[in-house]
Amino acid sequence: MPAIAKRLSKAAAKSSLSKTTAKKPGPTPRGDLAPQRIAAILKGLDEAYPDVECALTHRSPWELLVATILSAQCTDVRVNMVTPELFRRFPTPAAMAKAKLSELEALIRTTGFFRNKAKSIQGAAKRVVEEFGGQVPRTLAELITVPGAARKTANVVLGVSFRLAEGVVVDTHVFRIAHRLGLAKGDRAPKVEQELMRAIPQDRWIDFSHQIIHHGRQVCIARKPKCDRCNLEALCHAKDKTWES
Ligand code: SF4
Repeated sequence: MPAIAKRLSKAAAKSSLSKTTAKKPGPTPRGDLAPQRIAAILKGLDEAYPDVECALTHRSPWELLVATILSAQCTDVRVNMVTPELFRRFPTPAAMAKAKLSELEALIRTTGFFRNKAKSIQGAAKRVVEEFGGQVPRTLAELITVPGAARKTANVVLGVSFRLAEGVVVDTHVFRIAHRLGLAKGDRAPKVEQELMRAIPQDRWIDFSHQIIHHGRQVCIARKPKCDRCNLEALCHAKDKTWES
């Protein structure tokens, strides 16, 4: 076949392929949620944060549950300062269930909202003792019945202590960065969690949220993200980016 005929035949084949593709919109998400883009984001997170771990110091699921309740509106560093003495004084859920509320309040005072938190951790202790035989339960449905433990806390405990992925942890960092990366549009954490559960493969839910939390603390900070230091920059179209490659 002459060269010109070959080129025309190739062009015709290409055009008919693109027409065929255009006529058959598949179920694969496109744009921000395209699998290739999600895979690239996850790869970037793995490269930047390969050995990410929960920053709350703990020796058991119970200690992690308490530490996570205390971490509301408080830094992990501050929580890690109060928990050693708290668990020295009250080493088990049974001991904490019987503690004087005023003593619990004094021990956790510096974490803020200490009166409510003291009630929550004592309520959690009582529930764990009375309903779950002194052991932190291993399902989301059971965990969210524990005082002070909403979905975020339950997902932290299930993911970190038991490697069970029933949901995605959505804290302030995950909420913000999910929007910046176009992975979620919801205006409330539960909606964002549902969107992330659809967008991210389930076997990545646990590590994804820890990696994003680290990213939010170190690079993609709330006020002025450090986009010039971000290895996801080429994949990010956030309106408040501070640098564009
Ligand atoms: S490019 Fe900037 S806004 Fe986007 S994820 Fe990175 S730090 Fe955050």
